[in-house]
Amino acid sequence: TMGAVEALDKHASPALKAKYLKKLVSGQWMGTMNLTEPQAGSDLNALRARAEPAGDGTYRIFGQKIFITYGEHDFTDNIVHLVLARLPDAPAGTRGLSLFLVPKFLVGEDGALGARNDVFCSGLEHKLGIHASPTCTMIYGDGFEGMAPGAIGWLIGEENKGLTCMFTMMNNARLAVGMQGVAVAETATQKALAYANDRRQGKAASYDGNGMAPIVHHPDVQRNLLTMKALTQIARAISYSCAHAIDYARVSVGDEAIHWQERANLLTPLAKAFSTDVGVEVASLGLQVHGGMGYIEETGAAALYRDARIAPIYEGTNGIQAIDLVARKLPFGGGDHVHGYIAELKAVADEVRTLNPRGFGRTADALDRALDDLGQATRFLQGLLADGRSDEALAGATSYLRLISLAAGGAYLARGALADQSRVALCRFFAENLLGEAGALKERVIGGAESLAAAGKTLISA
Ligand SMILES: Cc1cc2nc3c(=O)[nH]c(=O)nc-3n(C[C@H](O)[C@H](O)[C@H](O)COP(=O)(O)OP(=O)(O)OC[C@H]3O[C@@H](n4cnc5c(N)ncnc54)[C@H](O)[C@@H]3O)c2cc1C
Repeated sequence: TMGAVEALDKHASPALKAKYLKKLVSGQWMGTMNLTEPQAGSDLNALRARAEPAGDGTYRIFGQKIFITYGEHDFTDNIVHLVLARLPDAPAGTRGLSLFLVPKFLVGEDGALGARNDVFCSGLEHKLGIHASPTCTMIYGDGFEGMAPGAIGWLIGEENKGLTCMFTMMNNARLAVGMQGVAVAETATQKALAYANDRRQGKAASYDGNGMAPIVHHPDVQRNLLTMKALTQIARAISYSCAHAIDYARVSVGDEAIHWQERANLLTPLAKAFSTDVGVEVASLGLQVHGGMGYIEETGAAALYRDARIAPIYEGTNGIQAIDLVARKLPFGGGDHVHGYIAELKAVADEVRTLNPRGFGRTADALDRALDDLGQATRFLQGLLADGRSDEALAGATSYLRLISLAAGGAYLARGALADQSRVALCRFFAENLLGEAGALKERVIGGAESLAAAGKTLISA
């Protein structure tokens, strides 16, 4: 609904805005986003839903959409579907997509609900998790009860510019899905920490009470919990930085607006993919901290794990996010924008080194190494892209996305720790225990493509 509001606000006609925005914003009605079709998931070029002009300013929409979140329900009186479809004679590929508003119930000039529109849910999916979210197959324009077939729709924005409008919605949704990752990770961390302070097993050097020690005293349990805390905080910091850049892009003008928009675009795939990977990783660690009880439904740890698993898939899979980061975002500003970002992160490492505050241990060294690794990997990928060797660059895209996220996360944790002594211990734990992964990721980005391509050939039978 938030995404639909933003897309309408930015691209719809004043008449459509007047009719729909207030009720979407108030939550009286809900919105949906209809891209996916059986043959068109990651690749929207293959999209087939069609729209025909009706001659009265409206359109008739025909086709099938799958996996539509909240496509049908009775929580609200009306559902406002935003649907990508192709007009007759539209150019092939994504340049021929237009965006339409298709309400479940038609809305009169006075705002009152009228006739049922020709859009129906033909099935609900049975899923691994998120059981409270109806995932629907939607049929547009099959005709019902003697009505002329065709769901009545209104164009949003210009013809064949639908993907631009949908991207307003998708960018909003990508950050929001990233926050789902953060939220599930935070919940899993709180739950596991509470359990670890309650459950007693074995002896521990740090426990001098009676009987068995609460498991939180065991170093391996502490390692799990600290990993959960650090990853969650990093994912949150990246997502907030992205939100901050979006806000600054909106209120700035000229070069400054361009700078912040590029920053928002650079950070969006990180906010989406890294945070949702963290959601799964942290939910899994949380389950582990619970031991056998984690596998039993009554603790709720297993439900978090199942719920977390969708987020790396929807809103563009994390593999697609990594491709977007490398192929489209690294070239920003002639390739300079990302290096400006790395320089900002490096300034934090320099501050830690210069101030040399108490309790930071080897944080400055670890940060410097990770940021050097990031700089090298970035230049390497930019070189491949400049040489037209994009397949090789994309082979390292997922590793690169994690590398930049971990390096940025280390700097964000350090910035927080410089401002607040109570955060220093976690920052140092991350720098000295987890940030070393950056080096391995750099090796994968720089040296992994050839063996991946060679071994990849052994998989192909189609
Ligand atoms: C619960 C749920 C809710 C959803 N809600 C909505 C919704 O509200 N609206 C909507 O429109 N859609 C929705 N979706 C659809 C979702 O966005 C798609 O499932 C997702 O984009 C992936 O498309 P696909 O399932 O066709 O996978 P595919 O595109 O078939 O991808 C399969 C695998 O191949 C990889 N892959 C594909 N192409 C490439 C490539 N070029 N390079 C590298 N790797 C590639 C992918 O990363 C993935 O790992 C939902 C899905 C689910 C499961």
